[in-house]
Amino acid sequence: MSRFWSPVVDTLSPYVPGEQPTKENFVKLNTNESPYGPSDHVLNAIHGAVSNNLRRYPDPSADAIRQSIAKGLGLEKSNIFVGNGSDEILSHAFNAFFSGKPPVLFPEITYSFYHACCQLYGVRKKEIPLDMYFRIDVHRFEGVSGGVVVANPNAPTGIALELPEIETILRSNPDVVVLVDEAYVDFGASSSVNLVPQYDNLIVVQTFSKSRSLAGLRFGMAVGHPDLIDALTRVKDSFNSYPLDSLALAGAQAAWEDTVWFEKVCQKVIADRSYLSSAMEEMDFKVLPSSANFIFVAHPVVSAQRLLVELRKRGILVRHFNDERIKDWLRISVGTTNECAALLVALKEILITKSDADDGAHC
Ligand SMILES: *Cc1c(COP(=O)(O)O)cnc(C)c1O
Repeated sequence: MSRFWSPVVDTLSPYVPGEQPTKENFVKLNTNESPYGPSDHVLNAIHGAVSNNLRRYPDPSADAIRQSIAKGLGLEKSNIFVGNGSDEILSHAFNAFFSGKPPVLFPEITYSFYHACCQLYGVRKKEIPLDMYFRIDVHRFEGVSGGVVVANPNAPTGIALELPEIETILRSNPDVVVLVDEAYVDFGASSSVNLVPQYDNLIVVQTFSKSRSLAGLRFGMAVGHPDLIDALTRVKDSFNSYPLDSLALAGAQAAWEDTVWFEKVCQKVIADRSYLSSAMEEMDFKVLPSSANFIFVAHPVVSAQRLLVELRKRGILVRHFNDERIKDWLRISVGTTNECAALLVALKEILITKSDADDGAHC
């Protein structure tokens, strides 16, 4: 708190991203980045954009990539909005659709950035409880509200909704915006993008940070009715007309068009997720059914806090959230096959040490 701060700055509890260590030698399974780099096609496109033209502003309306995305989805450019990472789009969306309205509904356990958006724009919120299996009950997202936000798959649980469930939410909220955050959809869930022509209250947000291996480039997109895209554009042009630099536009377009690389990376992550999930279940972990590039796990005996610390000692970073309902759980990104194997070796070691300590105590 400083005497120079505005009242709103004083109320903020900003989002805290997972640690980005400065040393390279960690097995980094804490922020759901892709374990595989972008394709040569993408790197070449970025290199190609490095030229004397950096003295020019980029295209403020990002027409080329919006056209390319629209074509790939069978939609129009007017259905597509792009931003500097999907977090920027989420922030604009809270401002554009939910501020000055009744409370916005989102699940009790979900991406905590939504809370930060609410605080920044003074948006009221109503958190909807998950069931005992950490599932979203879509029938609870009805009644008077200023809008609905659901991550599909949800984070950090990894559990996905089916499209008929998304449609239930859309139909019970016809007069407010329903935002579906599909940061992890490419790892096995169904995208609501195909519902866009039918529902004028739907906005779907995706990111290139996870399934397209470009967290460092910062690129996200939103798909929806042109009226919703217009609202986002009005907010964007009142905030920063040039959120995407020339290199990001070039790299993201190449990534969007390189469907072969994208499919290959997603399939690899999905295969390793299933190997990692079974191996951890064999070690007695509870593993929620994940449709994302991470798994959410809890051990019946060893606390999440202890696992976090012991894994870190062995050079492996995973994510723990300080929230009462999920304090026993860890979110672990699916790494390369070798990284998954290293994680399993470390966990075996930690769990054996634990039972040794128990034996000692009983003697
Ligand atoms: C990672 C993530 C995002 C944000 O991604 P950007 O890097 O800002 O594009 C948005 N929503 C969820 C649920 C995420 O996990």
